[in-house]
Amino acid sequence: MDYSEKYEVVIGLEVHAQLATESKLFCGDATSFGAAPNTHISPITMGHPGTLPKTNKKAVAYAIKMGMACNCEIEKENYFARKNYFYPDLPKGYQVSQHTTPICKGGYVTIKTAAGARNVQLNRIHLEEDAGKSIHDINPDFTCLDYNRAGVPLIEIVTEPDLFSADEAYQYVTEVRKLVRWIGVCDGNMEEGSLRCDANVSIRLKGETKLGTKVEVKNLNSIRNVKKAIEFEIQRMIALVESGGKVQQQTRSFDASDDTTFAIREKEEANDYRYFAEPDLSPFSLSDELLNDIKNSMPTLPAALLQQYIAEYGLNEYDATQLCLEKETADYFSSLVSHTSNYKAAANWMNGPLRQYMNEHKLSFDSFALAPEKLAGLLKLVEEGQLNFSIASSRILPVMIETGKDAATIATELNLLQVSDSNELETWVNGVIEKMPDKVAEYKKGKKGLIGLFVGEVKKVSKGKADPKLVTSLLEEKLK
Ligand code: ADP
Ligand code: MG
Repeated sequence: MDYSEKYEVVIGLEVHAQLATESKLFCGDATSFGAAPNTHISPITMGHPGTLPKTNKKAVAYAIKMGMACNCEIEKENYFARKNYFYPDLPKGYQVSQHTTPICKGGYVTIKTAAGARNVQLNRIHLEEDAGKSIHDINPDFTCLDYNRAGVPLIEIVTEPDLFSADEAYQYVTEVRKLVRWIGVCDGNMEEGSLRCDANVSIRLKGETKLGTKVEVKNLNSIRNVKKAIEFEIQRMIALVESGGKVQQQTRSFDASDDTTFAIREKEEANDYRYFAEPDLSPFSLSDELLNDIKNSMPTLPAALLQQYIAEYGLNEYDATQLCLEKETADYFSSLVSHTSNYKAAANWMNGPLRQYMNEHKLSFDSFALAPEKLAGLLKLVEEGQLNFSIASSRILPVMIETGKDAATIATELNLLQVSDSNELETWVNGVIEKMPDKVAEYKKGKKGLIGLFVGEVKKVSKGKADPKLVTSLLEEKLK
């Protein structure tokens, strides 16, 4: 049965994003992924007595950048707090986080929904350090611990309970990942854990204003899993309530092998983290000057750039959206249109042949060797009628990418320039007329539509090199 008329779903997401700094939040240990276990650790990471942490300024700047990208209010008076708890992956016995003064407050992220664009309200974005990693599948008798990740800088982006379907949650995480990548504060790589999501889900009867009891599904490591976990939870909760049960406050985990969730902690124990201001780090104030510098360093955000492409270059929404999926793509386009004024063709080439070539060869624009001005040269030859589009995209473009030579050189070397030499054109045209006497007779009786057939035939015998405009007028002339 469909219960969507009876129940409303409410979701709040907590996204942890690993900041793309080279060193950790409070010391110089490297943050790079995949190193041998426990090689990126120092006495500071391990919290040895007497060690003194220092705040990584770049991490603070990155958190502020994300706050600006999400329209947050930036907190100017900050301090770090200790969140005390015991867990084997937490070498110090406490996590340094922010408590009463998250660095970014409020704000929103705009998502696309079936009903149009909507702002999802944020509660806060705060800075904190990551914990280490427990590894359970190396030794059957022991849990192994890798502290390389301990102390790596994270931001936690927390929404209000302001998402109302699994699809909206999917859109939201997609948008957050795009934003962190766009402004360069996180690589957004969910498989490596640079971006992780906890989903808080509850249901309530339609019309009810009080929130229902929530469950929290921890550590979702792909956008698909965020959606699947929420879909499963919605079904589970509705079935539970419909059969007379009550949702219990729980922490749950997602099982990707069958898209289900299972309880890992019943009823959140009333945690007492004994927060207090971290005594080894002084509170820090953010000056207007610093905030201005950061603001000025922000790239144009994707939503604004999309509007700019539509307004300035006359692109349609679809083309502009495709170009604004990643910053590298947009940067390439921006550079391309500084070398051509045929904006529509530039967009078509990027969203068509270029994207196709890149997909086939698993390339991306951030490591793409073909200079935009070279591509503009190819567009120009097509625009001037010296090359036909299909030859340009299928035969010249790949060679340009592979050799770096310019379009005109390749076209000449491979003898692919369109022929406008009248002798050669005439030979092809005469050949076609001789080959198709019946069609020629029909044409002469008035079936003028056959001209397309003759032009196509000339195109074939010339292997695409005959200039179709010249061929058409030559044919018309000869068949008069
Ligand atoms: P906790 O103390 O359990 O971490 P918070 O109040 O900090 O809870 O909220 C954590 C996340 O859960 C936030 O994103 C918030 O919007 C969301 N949330 C809180 N209550 C609910 C609820 N009843 N249903 C869905 N999401 C909720
Ligand atoms: Mg929480």
